[in-house]
Amino acid sequence: MSLNLIDTHCHLDLAVFDADREAVLQRALDRSVSDIIIPAVTASHWKNIKALTTKQSHLHPAYGLHPMFMSQHKVQDLDRLERWLQSEKAIAVGECGLDFFIFNQQTNRQQAKAAQQHLFHHQLVLAEQYNLPVILHSRKSLDLILKEIRQYPHLRGVVHSFSGSKQQAHQLIDQGFYLGFGGPITYTRAKKLRHLVSTLPLDALLLETDAPDQPDATHYGQRNEPAFLHPIAQTIAELRGILLDEVIHCTTDNAHRLFDFQTKE
Ligand SMILES: [Zn+2]
Repeated sequence: MSLNLIDTHCHLDLAVFDADREAVLQRALDRSVSDIIIPAVTASHWKNIKALTTKQSHLHPAYGLHPMFMSQHKVQDLDRLERWLQSEKAIAVGECGLDFFIFNQQTNRQQAKAAQQHLFHHQLVLAEQYNLPVILHSRKSLDLILKEIRQYPHLRGVVHSFSGSKQQAHQLIDQGFYLGFGGPITYTRAKKLRHLVSTLPLDALLLETDAPDQPDATHYGQRNEPAFLHPIAQTIAELRGILLDEVIHCTTDNAHRLFDFQTKE
């Protein structure tokens, strides 16, 4: 029985880790975090993620165009993404999705939503075409995301840092999707989220840190890192009244069902 943990969402390529990335990785290994998935946010990150994940076989790349960075994406990036997926090994397409939380008062909402939907739609097409799971980011957009992914019956993936309703959670699970949970569930005020992780089927849950963001309650105010996955697993165990080992074993199995960790050369 494997007691390794998998961080299914960690932005380890970001500059905030440049000074001590090796130490961060060593601490993760010391805490039995065996694999880490690094999803890209813009095309300018792909090369670095490739370099990082080629060097270390327990780091796995996902390539995509994140909806919070619309101003940085170029018209040709979708074509570049397709060529990149043709030539490079990837564990998933992502991070992609829809973020309708970021708009300020100046935003032309209809136009901004349409631009995000265009990028999102094409990344789903690529995921299906290259038979890869998708890593989805969603804020205030889950119903639209559900509507989109229903067009692709073979598509699988994860909605990372899930924060929707119980009904949306079950609709995603019915669609073959997993739900990623991280630091936010460790805060006692997060009643709705904590109720969800204690009642949803364990075989639909994935662990993630979303480092460097969203630290758990025991690391509040600090830069998050993959070694901090344990408090998240521990919280799920406590809320469900089961053993920590069971949470680790099951979520690691889930990650292996969704992602093919063997695809690397
Ligand atoms: Zn992310």
